[in-house]
Amino acid sequence: MEQIKTDILIIGTGGAGLFAALHAKQANPDLHVTLAVKGLVGKCGCTRMVQGGYNVALAAGDSVERHFMDTIVGGKWLPNQELAWRLCETAVERINELENEVGCFFDRNADGSLHQKAFAGQSFDRTVHKSDLTGIEIINRLMEKVWAADVNKLEEHRAIKLVRSADRSGIAGAVLIDMRSGVYRYVAAKAVMLATGAGPTMYRYHTPSGDKTCDGLNMALDLGLGLRDMEMVQFHPTGLLGGPDTRMTGTVLEEGLRGAGGYLLNGDKERFMFNYHDAGERATRDIVSRGIYQEMRDGRTTPMGGVYISMAHLGADHVAKSFPGMVKRCKDCGFDLAGGLVEVVPT
Ligand SMILES: Cc1cc2nc3c(=O)[nH]c(=O)nc-3n(C[C@H](O)[C@H](O)[C@H](O)COP(=O)(O)OP(=O)(O)OC[C@H]3O[C@@H](n4cnc5c(N)ncnc54)[C@H](O)[C@@H]3O)c2cc1C
Repeated sequence: MEQIKTDILIIGTGGAGLFAALHAKQANPDLHVTLAVKGLVGKCGCTRMVQGGYNVALAAGDSVERHFMDTIVGGKWLPNQELAWRLCETAVERINELENEVGCFFDRNADGSLHQKAFAGQSFDRTVHKSDLTGIEIINRLMEKVWAADVNKLEEHRAIKLVRSADRSGIAGAVLIDMRSGVYRYVAAKAVMLATGAGPTMYRYHTPSGDKTCDGLNMALDLGLGLRDMEMVQFHPTGLLGGPDTRMTGTVLEEGLRGAGGYLLNGDKERFMFNYHDAGERATRDIVSRGIYQEMRDGRTTPMGGVYISMAHLGADHVAKSFPGMVKRCKDCGFDLAGGLVEVVPT
């Protein structure tokens, strides 16, 4: 089998994988770093699909403590608090890095400060964004940095097995298939990082990138490594329900729509979320998803079996200007998000 030697093998090129490669090279420019990915660098995975934005405590009056508490309370006190704190604390560092070193342009207020919009479950407007297609900005800029860096890339290479070291004390590398030629390649590495994410393909309605199929997790499991919190699958409440003739069914209509004041209506065209939570449509995703499922179970559904999202009361022009990507996505499937009703289902 063809062999490649590297210091660090990173499998997956979403935000996690690309940042890891850049940080490794920053720490030691002499390291030989290899990125391997099923698709093309920066063109696959979920980071590119991020619409809403990046939560970070930046504004006057907001704080890392507040962001942390929103995260813990939103997670029903189940999150690992060390990890949650690290997430909230390093978000500040990361957003500065994304802007000042990676070169991302995010939306700004008239005074030049970063614009932060409302997201569910947040006690402060703290979502940094680029219109409603934030992931494309983040991944494109990261991709440019990685292309400019001295990093070895194996595109359209699917990792299929992690290989133990001869003394079985660690991992010696990974076997990959070059999907263009069918050739197997073994990459020997001093360190292997799995940045492959998980996968949703066991559910009828799902939104992540099609290359996310849990096979990274399977490789770890196969090696006897423990997986944790596997029951924590997030459902986004408002996936587009476009009918059987479109592959767009399941794609997310972003959280910011409800954050901006969008209504959810059941099949009888009645708002129902206040029957489930005081925050109504702005409750966290788990609560809104469960509320929608309950309406579906009780038979109060739209013709295609979901509920409606309605934005028209906010003014069609305002909606079209604030959420151009979402309006276009719906229009492509024959729905008028700015002025009409769009059928949605948890995804
Ligand atoms: C539609 C949508 C909207 C979202 N909106 C938001 C949002 O507004 N805010 C937010 O914070 N989060 C959002 N998220 C979640 C966010 O996208 C993810 O948490 C984040 O991007 C994960 O980054 P990652 O690098 O771990 O994974 P990904 O970006 O998914 O990258 C995984 C990579 O691994 C590769 N891979 C997988 N298996 C293999 C294999 N066997 N061999 C080789 N390569 C492999 C894939 O090809 C891909 O390149 C959203 C997700 C979706 C799907």
